Amino acid sequence: MKKLRYERPIIQRLNVGIMNKFGTKTEYTPVTHIDGNPVKSLIEKFGSPLFVISERTIRQMYKDANRAFKTRYPKVQFAWSYKTNYVNAVCNVFHQEGAWAEVVSGFEYQKALKNGVPGNKIIFNGPDKSGAELKEAVENNSLIHIDHLDELYMIKELASHSKKKPRVAIRVNMDTGVYPIWDRFGFNYEIGQAWDAINKIMLTDAMELVGLHCHIGTFMLSPSAYGIAASKLSDLALHVKKKFKKTIQYIDIGGGFASRNTLKGSYLQGVDLAPSFDAYAEEITTAILNAGFAKEDLPQLILETGRALIDEAGFLLGSVISNKRLSDGRRATILDFGVNVLFTSFWYDHKISPAQEFSQYSEDAVLYGPLCMNIDVVRESISLPPLKRDDHVVVHTVGAYNMTQWMQFISLRPAIVMIDKNDKAHIIRKRETLKSIEAEEVLPAHLKEFKI
Ligand SMILES: *Cc1c(COP(=O)(O)O)cnc(C)c1O
Repeated sequence: MKKLRYERPIIQRLNVGIMNKFGTKTEYTPVTHIDGNPVKSLIEKFGSPLFVISERTIRQMYKDANRAFKTRYPKVQFAWSYKTNYVNAVCNVFHQEGAWAEVVSGFEYQKALKNGVPGNKIIFNGPDKSGAELKEAVENNSLIHIDHLDELYMIKELASHSKKKPRVAIRVNMDTGVYPIWDRFGFNYEIGQAWDAINKIMLTDAMELVGLHCHIGTFMLSPSAYGIAASKLSDLALHVKKKFKKTIQYIDIGGGFASRNTLKGSYLQGVDLAPSFDAYAEEITTAILNAGFAKEDLPQLILETGRALIDEAGFLLGSVISNKRLSDGRRATILDFGVNVLFTSFWYDHKISPAQEFSQYSEDAVLYGPLCMNIDVVRESISLPPLKRDDHVVVHTVGAYNMTQWMQFISLRPAIVMIDKNDKAHIIRKRETLKSIEAEEVLPAHLKEFKI
């Protein structure tokens, strides 16, 4: 007979009459494997903590999203949002699936070029584009999405010294019924800024207005907001056609579809709440198809979906450092990852599973990270079976933003592994080293030595 695993006893006060709507325990099964790879051996081989990305899941999510839009609309193009996860291996899975690149900085622009994305398939967004960056984008025929008037005038000036005619779009912000309105990026629709910018572009021959863009927010749980956005952009495109006899080539509806994560404070779980790709696609494509375009003028539909395509493909594996009791009697479990690598724990209650067998007991616990920083709380309250030192946990739905917003504070950032379609694990970003972190530091000669 197999020896039973020791589990320390707990004494717990029972509160009669208080029921958790989701049952007494949030986790019923351990997650011991990811795409055929044992969690334990992944950690042994690549260290803890460790990010793991499932290539199979990325491709599946992309195919689902693509199908939802392509079955409803004739011309659809996805552009991978680099800032959501710009590890090159991840970007290239999306490029292999057919996605263009959507970048929001000169750094990301260079990354996309280096990955081999043709210049004319890079969408250059964001409020901060330098003169040199804009110049390169113009020479490469990239799609430049103008954020403000200073940028518009800068492009106009650049165009006067270039043989190329810049291909531009404007970013439009608007009231879609979701508040607060994101009105700090681009030109507002309701107060006429967008139409004004369009006229400024159309009344010079310096550049070509090829598209109209919006990105109405992040984690938007309301598909109808996208329907409103698509209608307003279509309306602008139709006005351009009417006034200038000019066909707008594309409408870019941005990103922001919700992933299946649970927002803090949400009563329902994210998996039950997040609209499907079909729900978003139905609103967007119906709005454009019904807007009044002539058949030959139907614009291409571009989507810059980020989190909804990658979040579920990402896992964070970690280990327990210690358990302790807080002064109020609550159990606290200290993990080897904190808000430094799991930045999104500031706004999501991630699903967290033990990676080994456990009994039916569970206890409410606070999960802390390893940082010497009071705000390093992975979770204020979670019901988990008792975990002990060196036990492992798997955090789910972490593919978006963590690998770009992570910070290096007091330790080294972990490795990232991608598991391919044949369940083979590849390292796609090595764990940082003291050497790699110090590579950019310079120590002046007079500070090289000291005696203590
Ligand atoms: C961040 C961003 C995206 C991607 O947003 P998600 O919420 O990850 O889908 C797309 N377009 C622009 C302009 C962005 O800034």
